Amino acid sequence: MARACPGCAAPMKRETFGRKPLGTLDLDLCLDCQAIWFDAFESPQLTPNAVQQLFREIDGLRARTPRPLGAVLRCVTCHGRLALTHDIQRTNRLVYYRCPEGHGRFTTFLQFLREKDFVRSLAPAELRRLAAAVGQVRCSSCGAPVDIARDDECRYCHAPISILDVDAVRRALDGLDQKPPREAGVDPDAMLAALLGERPDEPPDLVHGALHLLSRHL
Ligand SMILES: [Zn+2]
Ligand SMILES: [Zn+2]
Ligand SMILES: [Zn+2]
Repeated sequence: MARACPGCAAPMKRETFGRKPLGTLDLDLCLDCQAIWFDAFESPQLTPNAVQQLFREIDGLRARTPRPLGAVLRCVTCHGRLALTHDIQRTNRLVYYRCPEGHGRFTTFLQFLREKDFVRSLAPAELRRLAAAVGQVRCSSCGAPVDIARDDECRYCHAPISILDVDAVRRALDGLDQKPPREAGVDPDAMLAALLGERPDEPPDLVHGALHLLSRHL
């Protein structure tokens, strides 16, 4: 039987992903909340095919704004209240909801991408450069427009302005685990130019728009 989503109580979709080094992993996804339930605490090691599968799933939802999560989220197993948890991984701020009894955690797709280093926040200098080229970007978390000359996070959901690290995605798809030198990451100016070249009239979404550009090669 499908589990009820902690965010909206609708039945979640169970999908099987490849797991490293061997075997598979069943994850429960809510496509309305755009979030995943993980049974175990450890973050799964997804195979390149699994990464590709997840990206296709996320790309398919790019026109849809995620449903805002409810004020009280409940564990799929014990129905206890999930605790909002803040973590810092290197320089990335992570937010997720965990069961205090240890049954698992609930995390949005965007937060999962951050956790895997596929998405990172933009530095102030990068934001200033982007602001010179474009007035607004679309919040990758809630879809609201963000005036990047003035704000370094979304006024509505407080998500930091984030960008897809295309190189990190490519490396994962190639099955490479090794972390590159930091400066080898994505060039935000080039990404913005590519997104504006595709759709000059819309505030660009530096995560989902970038994923969509990349999806032609998935
Ligand atoms: Zn949901
Ligand atoms: Zn629980
Ligand atoms: Zn937002």
